[in-house]
Amino acid sequence: MTRAEQNRPARSGPSALQNTAAALAIVLVAGLVADLVLWPRDQLPPIAEVNQHAYFTQAFIDRAQSFRGLQSWLGLAASLALVLVPLAVALLWPHSGREAGRLSRWTDRRTGVLFGRGGAAGDAMVGAGIAGLALLAAMPFQFAGFMRARDFGLSVQSVPGWLWDWLLSTLLTIVALALLAVLAGFLIRKVARVWWLVFGICLIALAIVFQALAPVVIEPLFADFTKAPQGALRSDVESLAKKSGVQAGEVFVVDAANRTTGANAYVTGLGSTKRVVIYDTLLKDFSPVERRQVVAHEFGHAHHHDLVVGLMWFAFVALIALFAIDMLARSLAERRGVDFASPAGLAMVLAAAMLAIAISQPAANAWSRAVEARADAFALRVTQQPSAAISLERRLTIQNISRPQPPAVRQFLFGTHPTTMQRIGMAVTVQRELAAGRIEPLP
Ligand SMILES: [Zn+2]
Repeated sequence: MTRAEQNRPARSGPSALQNTAAALAIVLVAGLVADLVLWPRDQLPPIAEVNQHAYFTQAFIDRAQSFRGLQSWLGLAASLALVLVPLAVALLWPHSGREAGRLSRWTDRRTGVLFGRGGAAGDAMVGAGIAGLALLAAMPFQFAGFMRARDFGLSVQSVPGWLWDWLLSTLLTIVALALLAVLAGFLIRKVARVWWLVFGICLIALAIVFQALAPVVIEPLFADFTKAPQGALRSDVESLAKKSGVQAGEVFVVDAANRTTGANAYVTGLGSTKRVVIYDTLLKDFSPVERRQVVAHEFGHAHHHDLVVGLMWFAFVALIALFAIDMLARSLAERRGVDFASPAGLAMVLAAAMLAIAISQPAANAWSRAVEARADAFALRVTQQPSAAISLERRLTIQNISRPQPPAVRQFLFGTHPTTMQRIGMAVTVQRELAAGRIEPLP
């Protein structure tokens, strides 16, 4: 036995590394199971082999590569900061001793005044503090990404405008994290062993409320939304709704043009707040048939209730992940010698949670890509205008300076949509089938 081994304290349970590996494996498996259960089973048109050079000039492919190449590294760095900062805080948290004792006495005094017994003020400070640090660490990478987007003409927002948006979303996140920390801390002290289960149920309820309220409460903070005006767009939407039998709610137009030259559309809200939102850039720069294809794609999401299924995905994975987060956070707390039921314990919970979110991301993205492909297929079936889908994909890719065929590893880890070439490939298949008369054109 070496001297180092002799000096190592005897361990009774599994090591911190084993605990970490087990917790992360649980999250990974939860994501895979959710994918398996909620994977769309629909038969989609196969993706034809297509060459990006047939649709894009070499000059554009090079330009997209030089923009997106570094841009995706900046995005990765920002995401890493959000995981590594909380982890560093947890791993460097002062061992319970004089320092930590002073901190908890200080928070206890404030807590007594503000919230009665318990550590709510300390919990809020830990949640807000770590969130603030992590967001601050990620900010330079996001700012660099924004400045590059300006250089490439994709972003047209002013620097103060961007900073204002950043500040607003950062403050919202800090407040949200502080409140979540107070809830978690309260539950850890009240129902110690099953706090993660109760917290998970609260989180799912919050996600549902957030989904319903976001379009009326959160999104208007960042942009102006107006109901789509009477005219071509609205009648398009109504005829599509009739043809596809989809009730997608109101159609809104968002003023994206003073931020970006990029174009997009999405479905948001739940129940009576459900709506389709279209960027005004899409109205200005795209032809009516292309726009129609976009609306049909969003109707595809509404038709398959993708937002609701997405919430189910989140609910399942969040509950299992919280079990793993509890396990990992307790082992971190033990390692640092801090009381899990004190605000310090929440620092461990936050670090474990950020790790769990990062680990579950590839499974979430895989599910998202499958659902997006299904919405594409739905749009092609409803409009039967694959050429419009192809020109839409080309235009969107050029306008957003996206890579038609991003590197496979990047697409696997971070891609939320099929690649442009896969989307064009599906449209080409439908085009061939229509030409061969294998699909009856709509009247
Ligand atoms: Zn979509």
